[in-house]
Amino acid sequence: MLVVQKYGGTSVRDIERIRNVAQRAIDYKNKGNDMVIVVSAMSGETDRLLNLANSIGKFPDEREVDVLISTGEQVTSALLAITLKEMGHDAISVLGHQVKIATDSSFGKARIEKLEKERILEELKKGKIVVVPGFQGVDKEGNITTLGRGGSDTTGVALAAGLSADVCEIYTDVDGVYTTDPNVCDKARRLDRISYDEMLEMAGLGAKVLQIRSVELAQKYNVPILVKSSLVEGKGTLVCKEEMMSMEKVVISGITYSKNEAKITVRGVPDKPGVAAGIFTALSDAKIVVDIIVQNVSRGTTTDITFTVAKTDAKKAYAIMEDTAQKTGAEKVTMDEDMAKVSIVGLGMISHAGIASKMFSVLASEGINIEAITTSEIKVSCVIESKYGELAVRALHTAFGLDDEDVREEK
Ligand code: ASP
Ligand code: MG
Repeated sequence: MLVVQKYGGTSVRDIERIRNVAQRAIDYKNKGNDMVIVVSAMSGETDRLLNLANSIGKFPDEREVDVLISTGEQVTSALLAITLKEMGHDAISVLGHQVKIATDSSFGKARIEKLEKERILEELKKGKIVVVPGFQGVDKEGNITTLGRGGSDTTGVALAAGLSADVCEIYTDVDGVYTTDPNVCDKARRLDRISYDEMLEMAGLGAKVLQIRSVELAQKYNVPILVKSSLVEGKGTLVCKEEMMSMEKVVISGITYSKNEAKITVRGVPDKPGVAAGIFTALSDAKIVVDIIVQNVSRGTTTDITFTVAKTDAKKAYAIMEDTAQKTGAEKVTMDEDMAKVSIVGLGMISHAGIASKMFSVLASEGINIEAITTSEIKVSCVIESKYGELAVRALHTAFGLDDEDVREEK
């Protein structure tokens, strides 16, 4: 088998942890597997380097920032290769430009365009364990690029896809993907399996186990990802295609929760074509991402539009809306900065009726008022007052049967 393993920052935090990584790689190799290991920078290193650059000036040159922050992964790659050799196994680090991992030139958020696999295959054929730094690539001009924060996951999946690996294991500091945040709900459980679509919803809604782009890539090339802890033994969570899930058992896979929401309402907006376009163009021009949008049924000639934005953008969005309200003749703008969003995510929603209404009933029975709702095929989100957020998560977790053992068994 060809195995790609990716290790996050906490898994290569110091030499002792790097030795653990090396030991696991050697064990796999001794069982007859070809091994490609992708590493992140030591935990905190990328932040440290970014802070240094930002301490020089407000807008450090983007090309040079990538030269700087890609070094973290180069350090851990070399240290792991040195460790492997010290432990008696032949190994080699192959950097982004040596692989090569060809990207576009968007420094700091480059996209992989092509992956050349010959060099890695050559080294594997010589019996070496190949170590590749995550996060880095090279553009057409030969400039070093980086793939965005958390981008080593994407490197791991891209290599697994490009090399047609049998397994892509992503080692991190949690032992898998959970039904919800264990810090909020002590009954949260590890899922044995989760589909790509569910994982994308959960990641988009704030569950930070995998970089979203790595999941998109895995789905595109159908690479199953096994998320595991490098610190404790366990089965981990398999992120895989829908067909590999057992559909009978659960309807809802997870509950997510974010406190970072603000709600803005523009009242008495003239109900005519172009008004919504005006409001949301003004926001997008200011690079403000709008999440949920609700437009009321109009009363006569006016209507109300409510939307949510990240709390950090709230004041700016409010100011823009005051201005827009004046221009369009809207009555007034109100804002509430203490909102939370709770969401239920699950493939089973597609085939089960009454999921959304059950969610609303659960919230109602806790005396929680719903301020806005949005749905997708596999998700229902409710905006509520932030003081009720954690209560809502726990109540929903119980109501949708996630407290039970064997949340989602392997087939
Ligand atoms: N070191 C990079 C970061 O912190 C990439 C990664 O760890 O995945 O974002
Ligand atoms: Mg990381």
